[in-house]
Amino acid sequence: MNRLPLLYLDVDGPLNPFAAKPTRRPEGYTTHRMKPEGWIAQHPFTPPHRVKPLRVWLDPRHGTVLRELSDRYELVWATTWGSEANTYIGPVLGLPLLPVVDWPTGREVLPDGTFWKTRHLVAHAEGRPFAWVDDELGESDRAFVAAHHAGPALLHHVDARVGLRDIDFAVLDAFARAL
Ligand SMILES: [Mg+2]
Repeated sequence: MNRLPLLYLDVDGPLNPFAAKPTRRPEGYTTHRMKPEGWIAQHPFTPPHRVKPLRVWLDPRHGTVLRELSDRYELVWATTWGSEANTYIGPVLGLPLLPVVDWPTGREVLPDGTFWKTRHLVAHAEGRPFAWVDDELGESDRAFVAAHHAGPALLHHVDARVGLRDIDFAVLDAFARAL
């Protein structure tokens, strides 16, 4: 049984800095045009073949660092891309097939301000230590995890204009080493 801590990976924001200036691709990133089912589903009134592909920026160096981190973590996709992260994102980054968090329906912010993913990740982790990188987590999510998750957890916010940087990976590495 794999008892490494989990590393929950969001795609849009940390790996795809979609909020960077649209006219200027961030340094080190390559541009991809993708039409995952989840994107097509967001255009219910457009025939699938007419849906404009989604522009995705990815940095292959992220794959290198994540493969190194997989000595210390079990990597898990925690993204609205769902299993399509394995189809579209993983191959570009050179990542193997990774486990995926399946989201129940209902993606609204809770009255206490927690992001909809948070309670599902706490349930998924089942007390196992985890780190989580996401552009939408915040203080109420940290409070929720502190109250409802028995093990150590690192909720690491990543700016969707910038994406994951060396400093973020250093924080993830340090968290796993400290366990
Ligand atoms: Mg995101």
